[in-house]
Amino acid sequence: MQRVYNFSAGPSMLPLEVLEKAQEELLCYGDSGMSVMEMSHRSRDFEEIIEAAESSLRQLMNIPSNYKVLFLQGGASTQFAAVPLNLLSDHKCADYIVSGQFSDKAMKEAKKYGDIAIAASSAGASPSYSTVPKTERSDFRPDADYVHICFNNTIYGTKFPYIPDTGNIPLVADISSCILSEPIDVTKFGLLYAGAQKNVGPAGLTIVIVREDLIGNARPDTPVMLNYKALADGKSMYNTPPCFSIYMAKLVFDWLLSIGGLEEMKRRNERKASLLYDYLDNQTYYTAPVDKNCRSMMNVVFVTGDPALDKKFVAEASEAGLKSLGGHRSIGGMRASIYNAMPYEGVEKLIAFMKKFAVENPKL
Ligand code: PMP
Repeated sequence: MQRVYNFSAGPSMLPLEVLEKAQEELLCYGDSGMSVMEMSHRSRDFEEIIEAAESSLRQLMNIPSNYKVLFLQGGASTQFAAVPLNLLSDHKCADYIVSGQFSDKAMKEAKKYGDIAIAASSAGASPSYSTVPKTERSDFRPDADYVHICFNNTIYGTKFPYIPDTGNIPLVADISSCILSEPIDVTKFGLLYAGAQKNVGPAGLTIVIVREDLIGNARPDTPVMLNYKALADGKSMYNTPPCFSIYMAKLVFDWLLSIGGLEEMKRRNERKASLLYDYLDNQTYYTAPVDKNCRSMMNVVFVTGDPALDKKFVAEASEAGLKSLGGHRSIGGMRASIYNAMPYEGVEKLIAFMKKFAVENPKL
């Protein structure tokens, strides 16, 4: 068996140690005599797994005790609706910073439930969304119930280089593609959410970290499965949770703790990302279209400038064991997602391939 370097934007690579541990425990977890996949979510063994997952995540992210951690389903996209349903409580208005497709989708979903304004947008940048808008406190309506951002824009390869100052207005962030990549000050946010399938584990799990005072004010017609109060009161087990994905997430959290937590993860991620960006900055064959001040450490976007060459690049890279390097279907080009589990050697191999491809395919 030959494992490849998988640059997919998600689902994406998991640490080998984690997969091996899961393999070891696949048929029989502890002395339970069964797989985690077969286990009742009400069993003591599973309760221990979900409690340990929460406690490791709290430790990793330094989550204060006045925040609830929820392990949910439905992907980050479900939170596009759950956030307004739960948080549009006082004035029924909220402000969105639109820095890419996912924040645009979140904004459009929220519009179904209240008075939603775009506080700032980088849609008009050239290329579109190649930067993140700068904002000041005065850009937000003082009566907004919350301000929403997407912290790392998976498709465009940008990340907020700053945390918007919203004063007393709760800040909500979609951190799907940067969760656990580096330390984050949770206290600066009212709510954080993320789909698991990039840095946390297999698809099927969505993590919500929400300050307690924002729970309990959902619209009366909020479906119970989207109501943070019902979900928090049920300790993420109002119904059957995504048990195996939670178990895998716990293994990933423990792996992160074992390597030294998020400071060490940040060091490794910076090392990988700067290797690739330094290469891009010091040659002329490929272009990295993103504003340098807003570059993502997780998703590195680049193009040759010729869509036919881009296609050839992606196909030949795949044959060389460098998988899923195609840019998002909406923008094309290339995107190397170098999440936590991508080893340094994967980026070295990618750069070696990029050099070889540039020599073999001169531009006319
Ligand atoms: N937000 C961001 C930043 C994403 O990258 C994605 C998926 N790639 C989503 C939201 C949508 O997530 P899901 O597929 O979990 O609904």
